Amino acid sequence: MIAGAAKRRIDTDLDHVRADFPALDQQISGHPLAYLDNGASTHKPNAVIDAVTGFYRHDYANVHRGIHTLSQRATDQFERARVTVQEFIKAARHEEIVFTRGTTESINLVAQSYGRNCLESGDEILISTLEHHSNIVPWQMLCEQTGARLKIIPISDKGELDMDGFESLLSTRTRIVAITHVSNALGTVVPLKEIIDSAHQSGAVVLIDGAQAVAHLSVDVVALDCDFYAFSSHKVFGPTGVGVLYGKHDLLDAMPPYQGGGDMIKTVSFEKTTYNDVPYKFEAGTPNIAGVIGLAVALEYVSILGLDLISTHEHNLLEYASDRILGIPGVKIIGTARDKAGILSFNIDGLHATDIGTLLDHQGVAIRVGHHCAMPVMTRFGLTSTCRASFAMYNNEQDVDALISALEKARDLLT
Ligand code: PMP
Repeated sequence: MIAGAAKRRIDTDLDHVRADFPALDQQISGHPLAYLDNGASTHKPNAVIDAVTGFYRHDYANVHRGIHTLSQRATDQFERARVTVQEFIKAARHEEIVFTRGTTESINLVAQSYGRNCLESGDEILISTLEHHSNIVPWQMLCEQTGARLKIIPISDKGELDMDGFESLLSTRTRIVAITHVSNALGTVVPLKEIIDSAHQSGAVVLIDGAQAVAHLSVDVVALDCDFYAFSSHKVFGPTGVGVLYGKHDLLDAMPPYQGGGDMIKTVSFEKTTYNDVPYKFEAGTPNIAGVIGLAVALEYVSILGLDLISTHEHNLLEYASDRILGIPGVKIIGTARDKAGILSFNIDGLHATDIGTLLDHQGVAIRVGHHCAMPVMTRFGLTSTCRASFAMYNNEQDVDALISALEKARDLLT
């Protein structure tokens, strides 16, 4: 839980938020750090760091298996974290929250547990050109295992989903639609409600990859009516190694376990093992207890500020950055969807993204360069890489100004 004083401090406005993130306050190569790689991972506020270290210092023990005080404390905090996650994404029940290692594991869990059990040869899985490899490869593996086919929803030159293309690919053979909420490579926000409603009318279940959404947009899984929603703690100011799979209770209940081991069983004998109830059925082995506790604090932190405030702030930053960057000769923005989250992908004519990224780092500006684990998006635009600046709530106009002046210098050096 975030203590009173810290709560009051972050309650005020986003200008003060930055001071809560100790790693942001440093110099890189003699320049103040401008951290614009939040799409890859976000920094952690003191509240999260303190919660994790505090847990190890005072309350550490394993969960769900001890009657002693420390184990009870750990279990209480772990299970309270589940309720915090439930409230954060507005799920109906805390049993619908499964803790995993991250978005990638959450998607693999659905592919292997739901998919392998329900799909057969000739069935179809719909994904889009926008997807991260984590929302492509698990479905390709499932197709190999079951004989199902992967169908790809095309995107426009702006990076928007081709909704007519989507409707024409949907059929009674479609069993699963797995789609990102926000594209990590382009920033496109996908019109989920329309997709989910159409997919349901065709009898398909829908998984949303929310890795790039939860830190930037408010998510209501009941209003969306998605069947599964996956996200990672480390992209929403929480620790690494923890993720969430939300699943509708009836679906999770009917699915077989993903992995076997401790905690996911009710009884074990050599003749027959019976499985635990959801969500424990999907949480085999000792979980990342400290990570889960840290995630809950990160979500509380975000909730106190409010995602409406955060979204507006990031939207303004994106507009400011997009306007300024287009003032640099030769810059082309990749991904110009009407509805975008705080991700700015771009290239500069004749320059290689890796060279730009390296020269920016020398000036204290951290961006991501490469294919962003979304090679099919790059291929769609005839590229192998882009430079990507991605914003979080603690970024400000000075970060953008640092990006622009570092880019101008890089361009002068490289041309
Ligand atoms: N999906 C998207 C859209 C992502 O941006 C990422 C991380 N870059 C992932 C999935 C995978 O997340 P993780 O590595 O935390 O499992």
